[in-house]
Amino acid sequence: MFERKKKFKFTAILLILTVVYGLYALYVLFAHNPSFELLSKNTISYSGLKAKIRSDKTKISFISVSLGTEDNSLYTIYTENDLNPSIQEKVIDIPLSEEDKAVKFIKKNKLKTLYLYYTIKYENKFFNSDINKKIRISIDFEPPSIKSVKTDSYIYLGGVGYVIYETSPDTFSSYVDSGLEINFYPITIVKDTGISNLVFFSCGNSPCKDGKIKIVAEDLSGNSLVYIKKMKTLRNKVWKSSDILIDLDFIKNKYNEIFKSNIESVSVENFLELNLALRKENNLEILDNTRNITESKVTLGRFYQMKNSKVFSRFSEKRNYLFPSIENPLMTTYHWGYDLSSIENAKIYPSSEGRVSYVNKEGLGIYGKTIIIDHGLGFYSLYSHLSEITVEVGAIVSSSDVIGHTGQSGLAFGDHLHFGTYLQGVPFDSSEVWDNKYFRQKILTIYNNFIQKNSAKGISDSVKKKNYKK
Ligand SMILES: [Zn+2]
Repeated sequence: MFERKKKFKFTAILLILTVVYGLYALYVLFAHNPSFELLSKNTISYSGLKAKIRSDKTKISFISVSLGTEDNSLYTIYTENDLNPSIQEKVIDIPLSEEDKAVKFIKKNKLKTLYLYYTIKYENKFFNSDINKKIRISIDFEPPSIKSVKTDSYIYLGGVGYVIYETSPDTFSSYVDSGLEINFYPITIVKDTGISNLVFFSCGNSPCKDGKIKIVAEDLSGNSLVYIKKMKTLRNKVWKSSDILIDLDFIKNKYNEIFKSNIESVSVENFLELNLALRKENNLEILDNTRNITESKVTLGRFYQMKNSKVFSRFSEKRNYLFPSIENPLMTTYHWGYDLSSIENAKIYPSSEGRVSYVNKEGLGIYGKTIIIDHGLGFYSLYSHLSEITVEVGAIVSSSDVIGHTGQSGLAFGDHLHFGTYLQGVPFDSSEVWDNKYFRQKILTIYNNFIQKNSAKGISDSVKKKNYKK
């Protein structure tokens, strides 16, 4: 009797354990499955296909992707064996070209949609299993179009140029690549028939690369079209080059002031830390704060050079630094602005009306106390080496408002204003905007005509986009 009871109890426990274990196995089977997510908006284009695969606590051993019709998988475009079993997430990138059999098949049959098949073999705690699924995708091999390209086809060395063009409604993003590391984005007006674009651009302090600019338009599927436009650079000026013998005492004091340290003599490393590494870091911060076309309601207006000021250093001057008793020059820099001298502690007025978009009262490294003003349309002005700043970020200022006083904060030799103008992050020669006749002709009138001509037909939509190409 006692024996039977014990046996019964044992069987019951075993049964419960088996059921629990079985339920757990079923849970694992159904709850933990690899997933496949198409990142290309369920569209296939020449930029190929991109998908994200997640293992969800399983071990994936095999992935294959193919294309075909609703009933048949026809062309394998991706396979991978021997995956690292510890992989939790993987993005697969499958490029396509006109030479691919699948692309030829699509074109030959003029297909508008297609099926993507995928197989994932995996293993969880209990089973080996696989997933076989298909996704309906649409086909887009058509890049956006670019037409009605208008420009006066020239730019002054260090100056600003413009180009106007229309892109088709499927355009997601367009920009001008002038051969710099930074792209220039348009001011856009969206219409039913397409998008009107105006881009102000710069080629830096050199002639436009290969005498041309590229207009690039991209759609959401990743198709892109490049339109090449010839762009002549008029070399109406020559950048000055000068040798600067480093004054070690001056550098020592500035080094200690800027880095809040207490060195007694300046080594080559100290000098490079200040004039090379910190300069680079400061220029990146300026780039970050001048690269966007913001939606500030400021209208671009006339620019003035600081009242009663004398120019003593111009844009793009090349400076060769000579360090005492070593092989020279140690390094060279370009001067991304104008140095303007006036009386000591002179009042500073904005060069043009705008919105104060950056204030650094502690000091921006070699630039010292600095203000940046956003003038709209991607144009900015910068004021450095100040002794005092009397505005805050967000203030709307006109050219009759005092924003600060000149000084010698940062790496400045004597009281002066370092003034710079920037277009979408790229410094350009301020003489272009100080020359009112030229400014009106090349920038303001172009913009006003563009708005007038297009806004009657559509809705103005100023575009903000990242223009970093790192
Ligand atoms: Zn300067």
